Amino acid sequence: MDYRLPATVVPSRYDIRLEPDLEAATFAGEETVAITVTVPVTEIVLNAAELSIQSASVATADGMTVEGSATLDEAAERARLLFPSPIPAGEHRLTLRFTGILNDRLHGFYRSTYKDAAGASHVIAATQFEATDARRGFPCWDEPALKAVFGVTLVVPERLAVISNTRVVSETPTGAGKKTVVFADSIRMSTYLVAFVVGELEATPPVMVGPTPLRVWCVPGKLHLTRFALEIGAFSLDYFERYYGMPYPGDKLDMLAIPDFAAGAMENLGAITYRETALLVDETAASHTERERVADVVAHEVAHMWFGDLVTMLWWNGIWLNEAFATFMELLAVDAWKPEWNRWTTFGVSRAAAMGVDGLVNTRPIEFEVRAPRDCEAMFDLLTYEKGGSVLRMLEQYLSGDVFRGGVRLYLERHRFGNAETTDLWEALGDASRLPIPEVMNGWIFRPGYPLVIVEPEGTGVKLSQRRFTYLPSEGADTERWQIPLRLRASVKRGFVDKPILLGNEPLSVSLPAPPEWVVANAGGHGFYRVQYAPPLLKKLTGALKKLAPIERFNLVSDAFALAQGAMMPAADYLDLTARFVEETDRNVWTALIGSLGYVNRLIADDSRPHLEALVRQRVEGAVERLGWEAQPDEDELARQLRGDLLRALGTLGNDQAVQERARAFYARYREDESAVDANVLPALIAIVAAAGAEPEYEEFLQRFKAARTPQEEQRYLYALAGFRQPELIRRTLEKTTNGEVRSQDAPFLMRALLVGVHSRGLAWEYVKANWQTMARQYPGSAYRRLYEGVTALVSPEWEQDVKAFFETNRIVLGGKTLEQYLEQLRIAVRLQEREAAGLAAYLAKPPRPPRR
Ligand SMILES: [Zn+2]
Repeated sequence: MDYRLPATVVPSRYDIRLEPDLEAATFAGEETVAITVTVPVTEIVLNAAELSIQSASVATADGMTVEGSATLDEAAERARLLFPSPIPAGEHRLTLRFTGILNDRLHGFYRSTYKDAAGASHVIAATQFEATDARRGFPCWDEPALKAVFGVTLVVPERLAVISNTRVVSETPTGAGKKTVVFADSIRMSTYLVAFVVGELEATPPVMVGPTPLRVWCVPGKLHLTRFALEIGAFSLDYFERYYGMPYPGDKLDMLAIPDFAAGAMENLGAITYRETALLVDETAASHTERERVADVVAHEVAHMWFGDLVTMLWWNGIWLNEAFATFMELLAVDAWKPEWNRWTTFGVSRAAAMGVDGLVNTRPIEFEVRAPRDCEAMFDLLTYEKGGSVLRMLEQYLSGDVFRGGVRLYLERHRFGNAETTDLWEALGDASRLPIPEVMNGWIFRPGYPLVIVEPEGTGVKLSQRRFTYLPSEGADTERWQIPLRLRASVKRGFVDKPILLGNEPLSVSLPAPPEWVVANAGGHGFYRVQYAPPLLKKLTGALKKLAPIERFNLVSDAFALAQGAMMPAADYLDLTARFVEETDRNVWTALIGSLGYVNRLIADDSRPHLEALVRQRVEGAVERLGWEAQPDEDELARQLRGDLLRALGTLGNDQAVQERARAFYARYREDESAVDANVLPALIAIVAAAGAEPEYEEFLQRFKAARTPQEEQRYLYALAGFRQPELIRRTLEKTTNGEVRSQDAPFLMRALLVGVHSRGLAWEYVKANWQTMARQYPGSAYRRLYEGVTALVSPEWEQDVKAFFETNRIVLGGKTLEQYLEQLRIAVRLQEREAAGLAAYLAKPPRPPRR
């Protein structure tokens, strides 16, 4: 089957008029499309899905009108318009009348519902067109390269707000309580970026950023949660105009919080839509993590206005050009906004997550051939966003920030209002840097996986070599090579050596003036590769932790654990290494440490669990003692967030009863006086109280979830419901994933949390097996796929067999290599368990060493 529309007819302009009926969940539409016909045709083929077309006619350039008939091919999502006589080559106008439905699947033109404070239900109509769902809103040439100008008119009840991509040109009452709202012409852009939102929404007054008014929209009663988003929105809009050296391509910028939203946000030009947690926040009551999320997502979407909207990938294979760039730019902007957040260090956590997937045999290149648009849906993953963003950061560091920016500007200037491919980006960066970019970069983009750099002592220096890193043995991995922009730092007598190296096909000997006290082979931590140090070098490095940057310590932990997962280091040795970090102060390093101990918790036998809990306590206690339970006036935001992270680890993974006791007391204090507990500690208290709690706490948290005052509060109490350990409470939470009590945008993630918890996973898996068809029907497609990530925590040979049989029997398709990846991750964990269970149990049974000072 050919997935591309015939090139004989292409659109240049759409005039669309839509009249939605929110109560009936339908809409009526009419559009006139300016088309160019290149050869005479009697048939016009375009995309349409869940629409019915009542009439089709073409007004030709020479004044003739030809009436046609429309047939729909639902499977192909296409409309075929047949005309009795040929339409000649030339410029004509195609007019269609059609009707459609406002669906509940959170794609296309869909319905979102919410309850107000008095409990009354309200409906919003909103759009989510990426990747290929504009065709559910209006018949169109739904391919990113077929850009056109959009002139939108919406007819809606007078009392409702209506927003589209551009500013309102006119608003006219049309009788019967309705109004006709006409929007300005858009720039030339792709169909997937068109947006309409209709409902009882309120907006902030505009903040002017140069000539551009910026507003945030939300359902009534939430305007007090918009200040933070406005601030980062205005900052990033200004920042990107300067960075790109090019004005914002729209005529206004609205950011809208939609109560039901499948993804995090969507970069519709001038009308960015968000799920509420990614836009609305009470900054005084939110933790650092929660505020950082809002800042990240807002900056990411604003970056897309240029990268994605102004210049767009030619076809879906190039989605990384949009997403990796927006991710990279998001970090640049947030780092410039709040340098004290150390955003590039925190990005290490995302980079490591991408390495987790890219170390699988079943990984994929960042860019690969996409034929069916469906295949691109699975591209919205860690590899596109986080590996892509990491690889760009590595290149930027290699070229220097200024040269890189010069290349980006060239690329945008050359392709604005048009489309581009990866080779176009390389060309622009090559022109700016005068370096052979494709030679260095193609291996990172067009090939799967990444290298393991091996560092061994040699003479007074070191020898560097590489192979591909995989957790499971992979044929040919030994001989795979990348061009690695590497930075080496070594401490030698009387000073340091710090040098950039391009490590290529051959091993490289690096001579040093004297044998090094220690060597770091990913200095600055930006490289997308792992490092394996020969044992004597590793020993020296772990003895010099204070000399390393936080991101370098993070990579040391992350790489060591990956080597243990891949049978290149005994797991007990890894646990031993974690003892070196009891004095650690960086939050990201702790994230890596705690994450790895949580992983071990999922593969040990139940009778080893108390021993692991003791080890967790031993590792974490000292840091908690140093930080205390209460925020100090002179400490920074990251220290406060770290306190929350560590308390949570101690009270849940460490099962520390004294901490649980104290958390209950603190939570009781919070109930009396909300200002008595720091916002970064509160989410940890809630998680701990749940882990140690029973029915009364469950009831309370359920009520608080339902009556939540902010999106963040709602999320905390919702996910806390998955943290209770009694089977009857787990069963109650499981039911909520399918009975409508939890929004379909959140239910799959709640289900995933239940599958991952060591106390809930058995019951959760049985529930999934019994209810997966309901889930497939209720959950939005992209989120449905994510719920199955939870099977990677079902670590036992029996579960593994059962999981495989389940997917085979039910023929569940998750798109791309998603399913293979989940199964491989499960295999890696089970293999580690089979190989190391005895060694781990023996190590854990030994009394923990006293903390090192
Ligand atoms: Zn994006």
